[in-house]
Amino acid sequence: MPHYHIWTIGCQMNKAESERLGSYLEQLGYQATASAEAADLIVLNSCVVRQSAEDRVVNKLNALKSLKGSRPDLTLAVTGCLVNSEVQELRKNFSYVDYFFKPGDYPQWLEKPESGQGLPRHPSPSTFVSIIQGCNNFCSYCIVPYRRGRERSRPVEEIVNEVKELVQRGTKEVTLLGQNVDSYGQDLPDKPDLADLLYELNALDGLARIRFLTNHPKDMRSKLIEAIAKLDKVCEQISLPVQSGDNDILKAIRRGYTIEHYRQLITEMRNKIPGVALSTDVIVGFPSESDQQFQQTVNLLSELRFDTVHVAAYSPRPGTIAAKEYEDNVPAAEKKERLNRIEQLQEKIAGEINAQLLGKSVEILVEGRKKAKWQGRTRTGKLVFFNSNSDCLRQLVKIKIDKTTPWSLQGTVEMSSITN
Ligand code: SF4
Repeated sequence: MPHYHIWTIGCQMNKAESERLGSYLEQLGYQATASAEAADLIVLNSCVVRQSAEDRVVNKLNALKSLKGSRPDLTLAVTGCLVNSEVQELRKNFSYVDYFFKPGDYPQWLEKPESGQGLPRHPSPSTFVSIIQGCNNFCSYCIVPYRRGRERSRPVEEIVNEVKELVQRGTKEVTLLGQNVDSYGQDLPDKPDLADLLYELNALDGLARIRFLTNHPKDMRSKLIEAIAKLDKVCEQISLPVQSGDNDILKAIRRGYTIEHYRQLITEMRNKIPGVALSTDVIVGFPSESDQQFQQTVNLLSELRFDTVHVAAYSPRPGTIAAKEYEDNVPAAEKKERLNRIEQLQEKIAGEINAQLLGKSVEILVEGRKKAKWQGRTRTGKLVFFNSNSDCLRQLVKIKIDKTTPWSLQGTVEMSSITN
């Protein structure tokens, strides 16, 4: 039996694609191996969002060159964001790689799967489902549109059938993925949008929860907010990256919205979706970001009080508009200082938000075990740990929270909530 080895770095979309690819290969008779040396087929699923990620991919490819040299029968393939439209260039630089294939595609030199065949045989209780590939936005610091290409949505019917199949195999919750889920469907004939898709998925028997990410403030509409508020399976958890609290920086990043518009969206969500948990992404040290401009970001985060903030220090990505047009002129030490300030602020805010759950009862979907405890998430995405001798996997369990930290919660099972 031939063996395959998939090496993955990057975002959840890459992880979801590697999972699909692995089960597809298993259905073609391959068996997984943790060792690249023992594999007959090695697939690198690459990420190039940051230069450091691309460097890791290139290092990995260089390291595999001698293995391929000593074992010419080994098949070496590369997918993910490194595989852009200029495959010729890649073939020239990595002539020992047998195949390059685009993210989300199946390896075309192998037999094409029929519908549903590429899905994991035993999916986890919470599974990622990609609904749109690529991005049309060209934020000035971001390489994704150049590497993942323009937006391509999967038809509603195809996604619904896939989720139905996943539910039959044990999935209870799906997270719909896209670089910008708010432009889902705009390239399809009937132009369905994310809200339309949510209505279809909400009607599926056996599916307990639906999440999605990532939203874009420029493209998010009231119709979606209303659908989230109305549909019982759609979780009250939204990720809406703001990137900066300063309008001039937003303009330089080419985000296409103002802070005033962003604030309105947050207000609308909080008014219409009771208990909604919000997360955001922030970039610090963008070229020429002054102390005052950075302070605007700090002020916005203090005002809006997100459940989660992902913060990154700017680093120029060759090939992007920002790398061409702006000098990377905020010193590294200053970027680090700004990043630390935001992390400290957010730790305090998240600690206070989570502390409000002390003594409360929450429903979690149990996803697995870690260090002898069961773990799962609330509808709002909070990570919860608890002890139980029963098999709780895939169950919705009621937990009374008795300890909170900024990052997770701990609690005790409310007796009646486990069904075995
Ligand atoms: S929305 Fe902006 S940051 Fe997100 S993938 Fe597209 S270009 Fe990159």
